[in-house]
Amino acid sequence: MTILWSTLVIGGISLAFGVVLSLANKYLTVEEDPRIDAVAKMLPQYNCGACGTPGCHAFAVEIVAGRAGTVKRCKPGKMETTYIPIVEYLKQHPNPDGTPVNIKI
Ligand code: SF4
Repeated sequence: MTILWSTLVIGGISLAFGVVLSLANKYLTVEEDPRIDAVAKMLPQYNCGACGTPGCHAFAVEIVAGRAGTVKRCKPGKMETTYIPIVEYLKQHPNPDGTPVNIKI
């Protein structure tokens, strides 16, 4: 009988936590601008910090927000494979209000 009650209590607690986590995932998820991921994939992925941010994803956030100024802050980046593709991509994908992203090569 003890084993049955233990199983039911543990199962009930697991079910309750599962429901709470599922609801939290549904209602508390923060949507990230999909351009950030696209720009991050165009960066070298060295996560070296030479651009002055903690890594490539953080630099992509700065670029898409228009705070980076120039993509050349990514020192390992190359003109043909990094800088030009990012600037061209952001020309084709402006901000949600239609304004261009403030970024230069
Ligand atoms: S300098 Fe370039 S490769 Fe290094 S972390 Fe910044 S974006 Fe990534």
